[in-house]
Amino acid sequence: MSPQNKPLDIAIIRCERTQESCPGTSCLLSFQEKKHTFRNYDPQTRLVGFFSCGGCPGRRIFRLLRTLKEETNVKIIHISSCILKEEPFPKCLHKKDIINSVKKLGFKVVLGTDNKWEIELQSKRNRDTPYSKDDPILEGSEHW
Ligand code: SF4
Repeated sequence: MSPQNKPLDIAIIRCERTQESCPGTSCLLSFQEKKHTFRNYDPQTRLVGFFSCGGCPGRRIFRLLRTLKEETNVKIIHISSCILKEEPFPKCLHKKDIINSVKKLGFKVVLGTDNKWEIELQSKRNRDTPYSKDDPILEGSEHW
């Protein structure tokens, strides 16, 4: 396969705590069916990493991303909806640091892995405590 025809490789980072009760089905099906934040990907796009942050405060992020950089051609990292969402899970206090670490290592960040984050974001827009427009968590995001 020529370099131009190489499939795009992506990876997903998920929350270690949520992993105790979530097998990841929603993220994996969204990717497989090319829905939500995966909807613009070519059918050839490969998911070559699906890993947790390693526990608060994102203990394994740096090591895993470094390995990903060395061993794969991943350019895009999706931050799972369970890291971003604030209901019904306990809010992740480290999500902005996690997102910034990913960006600092040169990966493009896409926020969300299924429609749950989209729904929460939409509902926050309509509530008393929306994210402010310049909240860094929304920087460079592709929600819809
Ligand atoms: S740092 Fe955030 S994403 Fe990681 S386990 Fe803790 S709450 Fe979950």
